[in-house]
Amino acid sequence: MLVPIIGMEVHVELKTRSKMFCSCKNDPDATRPNQNICEVCTGQPGTLPVANRQAIEWTVLIGKALGCNIADVSKFDRKHYFYPDLPKGYQISQYDEPIAFGGSIHLSFELEENIRDEATIGIERAHLEEDTAKLTHDKDGNTLVDFNRSSVPLVEIVTKPDFKSAPEAKKYCQELQLIMRYLQVSNADMEKGHMRCEANVSLQEAGKFEIVDGMVKPLGDYKLNPKVELKNINSFKAVEKAIEFEIARQTKMIEEGETWVQQTRGWDENKGETVLQRTKENAQDYRYFPEPDIPPFEPMKLTEGVSLPEMPIAKRRRFHQEYGLSYSDAKILTDDTRWANFTEDVMTEVIDWLHSLPEVNGDSDEIREERKEKIAKLTGGWLTSKLMGKVESFDHVKFSAENFAELISLVYTDRVNSTNAQKILDEMLKKGTDVDPSHIMEEKGYGQISDEGALAEVVGQVITQFPDQVQQFKDGKEPILKFLVGMVMKATEGAADPQIVEKILREKL
Ligand SMILES: [Zn+2]
Repeated sequence: MLVPIIGMEVHVELKTRSKMFCSCKNDPDATRPNQNICEVCTGQPGTLPVANRQAIEWTVLIGKALGCNIADVSKFDRKHYFYPDLPKGYQISQYDEPIAFGGSIHLSFELEENIRDEATIGIERAHLEEDTAKLTHDKDGNTLVDFNRSSVPLVEIVTKPDFKSAPEAKKYCQELQLIMRYLQVSNADMEKGHMRCEANVSLQEAGKFEIVDGMVKPLGDYKLNPKVELKNINSFKAVEKAIEFEIARQTKMIEEGETWVQQTRGWDENKGETVLQRTKENAQDYRYFPEPDIPPFEPMKLTEGVSLPEMPIAKRRRFHQEYGLSYSDAKILTDDTRWANFTEDVMTEVIDWLHSLPEVNGDSDEIREERKEKIAKLTGGWLTSKLMGKVESFDHVKFSAENFAELISLVYTDRVNSTNAQKILDEMLKKGTDVDPSHIMEEKGYGQISDEGALAEVVGQVITQFPDQVQQFKDGKEPILKFLVGMVMKATEGAADPQIVEKILREKL
């Protein structure tokens, strides 16, 4: 049996104000080429790099968020290679003393989403380096260099080969993006190249190898199949598709008795396949040596007093445990920091309100818990399916958490039925400002009609409309009353208070 061994390497551009080793503006998406450049980031002789403290701090934060150890002492190294996007002829990176190492990330999966429901992925290291310039090839065959991206701070995060499937790799990249956004260190937009994912994939015979310290080791005389590095992956979907394609390609080769050498392949989105870019017979010699112009540094000392915000996985767990939101609602609501903050505020309001109800004070703990569960379910549903279903993004939500909580309280206390509450929500979204749902309810008459005078009139109409049923009820057929109540509800578009309707019907008949 063949099993895939997958490891990921992800590069993340940090959104510091200035670049990694100079004071140029860090804006890799700037539209005018070579707008934010200087002698340092164009690699001119005689210039001196000065490390960006913020970038080091943020790399420590990323390391901590991934459960890594932070090095006591770290340093930069020169990685040599020659390419037009690298004017110095070397990249300042980190070799043997990365800022962070030895962490892990926990992934969980829904049923049928993956071959296992939990996966713990080891994080080998997270180090800091500089991005390269950007090359574009015009239609006349010229290659143009844009140095805006040159020396933008870049964090490389390398995992151990712990993934067992393509969906796991995809989920990992999604979780990583979320962590970057929670930390507010990168927009981590894959389409814009803020986050670039590469996968190492190799298929091996089950039971013929072991993984020791993140290295795949053959057992006995088994010869490992070479790994294939996948690049040019620009979306989460492509992460999954590229790896799946590669697994199928290697499986076929092994079944047909073919062999291959270690190589780099690019994902071709249009063709839906991986394409050979270059083969690596031997590991490239980058002639690493310590960067002489930047002294070693102590990352922990530089980051004293910098604390880690709550991470997505902890927030999900807390939303479930503290507020009683279902795990799937908690997952949806924490996938975007703005939704997560909004949810937090709504839940706080709703629970405060619930505890302020006079009838709640006399409740037993058990009933209080039941009420909390009921309102969590209601709020979770209104946030995820109703509100999220009506807006494209959080940008469209202009009302406060307080007023959304108020809408929930109207539904919870049956002051408005679900259909009318949705109409109120539509109005709230349409207004584009913070607006009180109770006002809309009163203004539009969406509330439950409890006014006996108004209801008596409708009840009278129903009695005239259905004389046969009225007679049946008078003859002692009690269940027919439900039908008559239903007709009143229908006539008021569900707005009538059914208990009051029943009371009036009994009086009149
Ligand atoms: Zn510069």
